[in-house]
Amino acid sequence: MTTDISSSRGFEALGLHPSIVAAATALGYEEPTPIQAASIPVLLEGRDVLGQAATGTGKTAAFALPLLHRIAASREGERRVRAFVLVPTRELAMQVAEAVHKYGRELHASVLPIYGGQSMQQQLRALRRGVDVVVATPGRALDHLNRGTLDLSGVEYLVLDEADEMLDMGFAEDLEALAAALPTERQTALFSATLSPRIKALTKKYLREPVNVQIAAEAPAAGKAARVREVAYVVQRPYKAAALARLLDMEDPTSAIVFCRTRTEVDELTETLGARGYQAEALHGGLSQEQRDRVLRRFRENTSEILVATDVAARGLDIEHVSHVFNYDVPSSIDAYVHRVGRTGRAGREGAALTLAEPREQRLLQNIERVAKRKIRMESIPTLTDLRERRLAMTRTAVEDALREGEPGKYRTLVEALATEHDLVEIAAAAIKLAEQGRADGEREEVEIPTARIAPAAPKHERDRKAPRARGGGDGDVAKIYIGLGRSAGIRPADLVGAIANEGGISSNAIGAIDIADRFSLVEVPAADANRIIAALRNTMVRGKPLRPRRDRM
Ligand code: ADP
Ligand code: MG
Repeated sequence: MTTDISSSRGFEALGLHPSIVAAATALGYEEPTPIQAASIPVLLEGRDVLGQAATGTGKTAAFALPLLHRIAASREGERRVRAFVLVPTRELAMQVAEAVHKYGRELHASVLPIYGGQSMQQQLRALRRGVDVVVATPGRALDHLNRGTLDLSGVEYLVLDEADEMLDMGFAEDLEALAAALPTERQTALFSATLSPRIKALTKKYLREPVNVQIAAEAPAAGKAARVREVAYVVQRPYKAAALARLLDMEDPTSAIVFCRTRTEVDELTETLGARGYQAEALHGGLSQEQRDRVLRRFRENTSEILVATDVAARGLDIEHVSHVFNYDVPSSIDAYVHRVGRTGRAGREGAALTLAEPREQRLLQNIERVAKRKIRMESIPTLTDLRERRLAMTRTAVEDALREGEPGKYRTLVEALATEHDLVEIAAAAIKLAEQGRADGEREEVEIPTARIAPAAPKHERDRKAPRARGGGDGDVAKIYIGLGRSAGIRPADLVGAIANEGGISSNAIGAIDIADRFSLVEVPAADANRIIAALRNTMVRGKPLRPRRDRM
């Protein structure tokens, strides 16, 4: 098989502008997801697209990359709103704008999120300066339109993102009013997780001879779930690293692969696990052949017990069997899930495939279950009490094994000496306590991980979505803290974990992704703790320098 994974060749082959391919590569995307591979070429041709794929499958880039390509292809002197993206919620407006900003960084495309609750003044100023892309919630967009502060007459590209949710939220009329302000000569893309009759009606109204791109109907890949225990845990994003650590402690795998979606995530997670005392190594397309070989050798020899990898890097890997596969995210295609899980339970052996799902990814998981005909059990992340019990059980087994092996002879004298002063049972208990502590790996700090709400299984065909939603409630709980020191100051993730855990008084396990750039760093923490952590870090020095923390602006 071909293993040229040094660049995002898959994206290049779709015909995208080199700087957009570069942005995708820089984000660690190694290949397009199925919805991206199917819709990007069609959108680049200028056709309208009706795209359907489950949540978490990369629909944002599916419309955003062609949108940016179009802006890059014909740059004009004066800035006007050329692309208009409508989304149902403010969280999504922020998220999608952020994504467009990242994908278009090298093009210097300017993007403005517009949503209610944000200062109107700020939006007005930005609009006056001129922007290429507006990402808006329908209500706020309409406000601007009515005030004459948003000019949509130059829009070439309209996107209705998460259209099913927009309908659910009662935005149909707003959409109508907004569409009336748009040129009829334009390209339109509609993306949705479901295809209800209402979505089809919407498509008829706003799209012109659209190409249908449906990903949910992916054929079930071959391969049977032999003796693999498949479990999924719903965890909010800020707690994912902690949840993974908890599972690693509970499961005590002999060898494990942790799959992530991007290179960046692989690198960050490897660092995070390392900082918490696990022997983890990164494997992704950004490594040289030599580096890959070294990583794999150490993994095979069991010098490292955890391999953190992207799908592409792990494909065709010559690793016979691992005891555990962890999905750090729900994979974006059913195929990827089946491939990943196929790494364990080989040759009739037992294996476990454990998946962390963010609340919003649950439907994707149910989709995988249904289409790939799997039974994935939903469980709660083991609690601290579970972990302690498990450790005790492991210690007990270890002691029993030692007793069975016999030969406690050389410790006998010591025990007899102690027994002249202490009770035998107490001596044994103290010895077990010490053994226990060894198992707890230097008393890693432990946090309770809040249980996220597990969604009821979706109805067979269409979900019924009348119930109120708390969209983004999960993702919204993370805050990013900006730290004014980076790589050039010698900052490492462990420094930040240490400072934040010590000074901020939160457990290191509650710290999310850590991103260290040359001159600054970004750390994700639970939003509720952010202010306190920032206040505490104001007076903290690391490597002799002040951290200068502040909340990262979106
Ligand atoms: P959707 O809109 O379908 O719910 P998103 O666009 O929000 O999905 O993407 C879900 C996640 O997948 C995001 O974190 C995004 O960065 C990531 N992602 C998107 N495309 C790719 C890719 N080609 N490779 C790896 N990760 C990707
Ligand atoms: Mg989306």
